[in-house]
Amino acid sequence: MTVVGLDDTDSRERGMCTTYVAAQIAARLRRQGATVSRLLLVRLNPAVPYKTRGNAALAVHTDADPDRAFSIARGRLESLSETADERTNPGLVVAEGGIEDVSDDVSAFSRRAIREHLEIAEAATVVERHGYRSWHAGDGRGRIGALAAIGSRRALSEWTYEHISYRDSSRWGTPRDVDRESVFDAADCGYPDVWDTVDRGENETVCVPHTPGPILYGIRGDDPGTVRDVAGMIESEPAASSQLFVTNQGTDVHLREGDLESVADGRAYRVDGRVASEPETRRGGHVFFDLAAGSADASRLECAAFEPTKRFRDRVRALRVGDRLTACGEVSRGTLKLEKFAVRELVTTERVTPTCPDCERTMKSAGRNQGYRCRDCGTNRDEKVERGLERDLETGWYEVPPCARRHISKPLVRGGFDAPTHPER
Ligand code: ATP
Repeated sequence: MTVVGLDDTDSRERGMCTTYVAAQIAARLRRQGATVSRLLLVRLNPAVPYKTRGNAALAVHTDADPDRAFSIARGRLESLSETADERTNPGLVVAEGGIEDVSDDVSAFSRRAIREHLEIAEAATVVERHGYRSWHAGDGRGRIGALAAIGSRRALSEWTYEHISYRDSSRWGTPRDVDRESVFDAADCGYPDVWDTVDRGENETVCVPHTPGPILYGIRGDDPGTVRDVAGMIESEPAASSQLFVTNQGTDVHLREGDLESVADGRAYRVDGRVASEPETRRGGHVFFDLAAGSADASRLECAAFEPTKRFRDRVRALRVGDRLTACGEVSRGTLKLEKFAVRELVTTERVTPTCPDCERTMKSAGRNQGYRCRDCGTNRDEKVERGLERDLETGWYEVPPCARRHISKPLVRGGFDAPTHPER
């Protein structure tokens, strides 16, 4: 077997998409008589600054001779990569052998590429050590993703699927002609095996991109047959081609266990703590609060739900000081960008100034450390009283809506969480 790893072919302004380049390589291999057993779409660390959008890397698994596969892949990369954009630095790595031949250092490289920041030099060293064929343009950063894609099949254990339909190249850059109603109907048919197709709350067809690239729509889900069927139900301009990808999307594999004392920028975590400040909505509609470990002077971590997370911000605004949470998301400039959180324990009472038992008006302070009294009725209370608190939240997991989901984040509807879930759809 031969594995072709590739990355970094697209440009935010100029378009293209590495999934399309991989699909083109696979098509050419098939045309020349080779079998292509699978295409992997691997999402790497979403916190790296070089990414165009979702930090995708691709691997094509084929029985083609490695020299032949290398030459086909290089030809496709040279002609399709948007290297006119200086931030596009394509990389190609071709390895001989099956999954069982991927050595420990390559599979560890893949795991780290999803959770850490890696250097080009390290990728080059590993490529050389194993005698892999490789090619690159620009600074060759794409070799990091290309190598990570090669190791990923062995490194990861949880996989989902995406069926991508591509536009005819004559239409690239023009508005997409996709029937919205058919997308919503198809999404209903496939749910919950197929997820993040639409956002019902925002009335948005999430599966149809807005970028100038070649994708018409991409259907994500747990089952290869169902994603294909849902794609087939969508009415649209004719798709020029389509391809099924095996992917680590929707798996949360980027999250590591962390604690509030040791989180670092550029990584994504699952951290426990208590809400330590009332949620505050700032300019632009972004909502912030602090999370702290047990004691009052413990280290704090600012958590944020940004404006694009839409109705998720209402969940965050409903938090109260003292609620115990598990928060998940990437830490950037000292702030955790919330992707989801679990309410472990809700504060259900609050201490308030007592009311007068006779006239039922709020008592006034009787002076420092002297309790409260009602001047009119002459009644007294020594201290504040406890009152039940109505809460708009329940224990369990809350998440951003599909329109704000990161490709790698696991939708709650996929299950396997350690508490009840409140899925968005
Ligand atoms: P799209 O998802 O739209 O195809 P993209 O978001 O995948 O685009 P790329 O153009 O592939 O973005 O750019 C990401 C670059 O960052 C690639 O060169 C890749 O090799 C590199 N990279 C990926 N993961 C890491 C990492 N963990 N550390 C350092 N560099 C990385």
